Amino acid sequence: MGEYTVTIRKKDQKNTRELLFVGTDPERSRQFETECKTQIGRRHFVTTTDDAANLLRQKPIDLLVLDLESFTRSAHVRALGELIGSRIGMETLALCPVSAAAWLLDLMPYGLKHYCLSPYLSAELMRRLEDMARKADAFDMTQRLDDRGDIVDLNTAWLDTMGYTIDEVIGTPFEGYLHPGSRQAVQQALVTTSSKPSTDTVVCQLCRKDGSILDVALNGVATYNTHGEHLQTRCELRSVNYFLSYKTKSESQLQVERELKVLLLVRSKLQQALMGIKDVNELSFLMCHELRTCPGIVGVAFLHKDAQDVMQLDACMSRDDEERANFLQGCEDMLQSMRGKTLGVLPALIQGEFVIADSLAKIGGQKENRFFHAMGVRTIVGTPILAESIMFDETAQTLGALCLMLDRRRNFPREWLEVMAELGALASFGLNIIEWNYEKADLMRQLRDMAMTDTLTGAANRRSANEFMSKEYDRTQRDGLPFTLIMMDVDKFKNINDRYGHEMGDQVLKEMTRVAKDMMRPSDLLVRWGGEEFLVVAPNTDAAQGFALAEIIRLAIEKTRIEGCNPVTVSMGVGLIGVGESLESALGRADAALYQAKETGRNRSIIAEVGSAPGAVAAH
Ligand code: GH3
Ligand code: MG
Ligand code: MG
Repeated sequence: MGEYTVTIRKKDQKNTRELLFVGTDPERSRQFETECKTQIGRRHFVTTTDDAANLLRQKPIDLLVLDLESFTRSAHVRALGELIGSRIGMETLALCPVSAAAWLLDLMPYGLKHYCLSPYLSAELMRRLEDMARKADAFDMTQRLDDRGDIVDLNTAWLDTMGYTIDEVIGTPFEGYLHPGSRQAVQQALVTTSSKPSTDTVVCQLCRKDGSILDVALNGVATYNTHGEHLQTRCELRSVNYFLSYKTKSESQLQVERELKVLLLVRSKLQQALMGIKDVNELSFLMCHELRTCPGIVGVAFLHKDAQDVMQLDACMSRDDEERANFLQGCEDMLQSMRGKTLGVLPALIQGEFVIADSLAKIGGQKENRFFHAMGVRTIVGTPILAESIMFDETAQTLGALCLMLDRRRNFPREWLEVMAELGALASFGLNIIEWNYEKADLMRQLRDMAMTDTLTGAANRRSANEFMSKEYDRTQRDGLPFTLIMMDVDKFKNINDRYGHEMGDQVLKEMTRVAKDMMRPSDLLVRWGGEEFLVVAPNTDAAQGFALAEIIRLAIEKTRIEGCNPVTVSMGVGLIGVGESLESALGRADAALYQAKETGRNRSIIAEVGSAPGAVAAH
């Protein structure tokens, strides 16, 4: 067995590249075919993922194109993802509708990296295809093996990509750089291609010096002389997963990573700040304010559905402070121009779709586009803000959208898009926190009200009365202000119950409370002291004023007519709290005055004597 060499040839991409287009729309297939004719030599078209999978097993396809509009996300993500994931030595390009960018989030975890947002322009597609080809080229490695399979020569790209120096590699078996799982397939391919005139492609994994894995497509073509003797096997090693290779990362990739780092920082900052958020204004301001400082971001807009379910601009901010007013106007104009359309970016956002418009021509009107273009906006990413359904509600409702305006067009990597989508989730989390805080405050208020009021009449209960009285007592005693308490008791209430029934009795108590409250100042408090006995707490009120108030209430109740019931009267005991006198003592005197009012004929008010002992009044 003579020495054979494996060399890696830079192949003529345009003639030998093979393409597989998966999609059901004949119009879009035809358009794509026309566009890429000059780029790709052989083109195959299938309409189902099954047919695609079959073809991928048979042919060394260089480029897989998925027309995502032909599929529904809920049903096809998995099958398409598996096609991408099968990685048979090829790149995948997804044609993704602008308003269904969530496809990208779904498929990127399977390894999708390249996409074109449709409707795409011919030039856009060309650039993307060239870009993909260039990136693939950058990784072509060459090596020559002797008949034992040891490396006798290689190029710089090989060393750079694998992370070795030339001395470490020369004379070592190529097999040693293969991942154990790939060894058998590669040996098989090399034997086949070197023993008979054939082409064989195998996807294998190489182990880099740092332990990381590089996916490559090994494509071998054997050549023979006129006597049928094997001359050499030309082999091509082409990286499949170029994003893994940090060593040959382009400047633009590094920039994306730097930007991503800042974005991640801002995200965690936002995450922390969200907990203390109080209302939507605060939330939208915070998000816009933080995000506008991220590299690549020219402006941020926060849309929020109002009470009528219409998307409104809640906040927007430009990177450039001087542009602030113009930017606000520009965003308003853009929103207006998008309203009323049944298709396009705004309806998609309202539906809760993730949107990426990498050309202003794909959204809005001419005038608004000019403004944004002049500002430097090239791409708009819209991420929906959905109501997090705590109640396991299947249909998540759209609450709003966060729109990021970016200064360039590019093929965003998975991490970037994920952070973008996550920002929408963060905003929705913020909205939930606002709602929770609001609901919690409301609930606390309700609980407090419940604990503080009497359920039948709505008057304050004794508990809250004690709290209120002791606070007012301290204040009035300190400031030398008068403070009067009025005890009120329904006359012959037992009779009402007996004659009309307990329910009528309850009705009377309710009605009395309403009438009495109407006569009182907001600074006074009506308390149901127990049964049919009430207390009017009147701070900043002297004995005469207290007596007047008692009389007003008494007369108002006397005048009140309750259907089906005789007029009701009340008796009042009015007690001014003396200087240094305790609340209990004053209450006792007011009670005694009330007793006196009952004793002396009812339906009247009596002032307790100041400084008298409760018993003294009663004995009067
Ligand atoms: P007086 O003029 O001396 O105050 O006579 P009175 O009948 O009002 O006095 P008494 O204290 O003997 O009776 C009060 C009655 O009020 C007894 C009780 O059944 C009734 N009562 C207490 N609480 C309620 C209530 O919540 N609803 C109803 N319907 N009746 C109540
Ligand atoms: Mg009574
Ligand atoms: Mg009573």
